[in-house]
Amino acid sequence: MGAKLRVRRDDMVEVITGNYKGVRGRILSARPREGKVVVEGVGMVWKHVKPTRQHPRGGRIEREAPIQASNVMLLCQNKECERYDRPVRIRMLLSPDRSKSRVCTKCGRAIVTEE
Ligand SMILES: [Zn+2]
Repeated sequence: MGAKLRVRRDDMVEVITGNYKGVRGRILSARPREGKVVVEGVGMVWKHVKPTRQHPRGGRIEREAPIQASNVMLLCQNKECERYDRPVRIRMLLSPDRSKSRVCTKCGRAIVTEE
């Protein structure tokens, strides 16, 4: 269930509400079915882990928990935009070749994430 996410892995986003309001981070994973995303450094929780090679002693590690995708926004990358480097609403634009891009509703410029 849930609407398709407008954000995806590697996007740089800003949290717009909650304890992490104003914090920016990269999306580590997107979970469209849950409508959630995991953002680097956001929503930190302690997790108990069993000993593994990576964590030989096990115990507690701090990790990001998924947050609602609707709580994050993309940033406009267009320097001429009045909302440059700030969170912006986006709309989906379907190109003639049927590829989709996400554009800032203020300036109409596509927001691109390098992979
Ligand atoms: Zn813009």
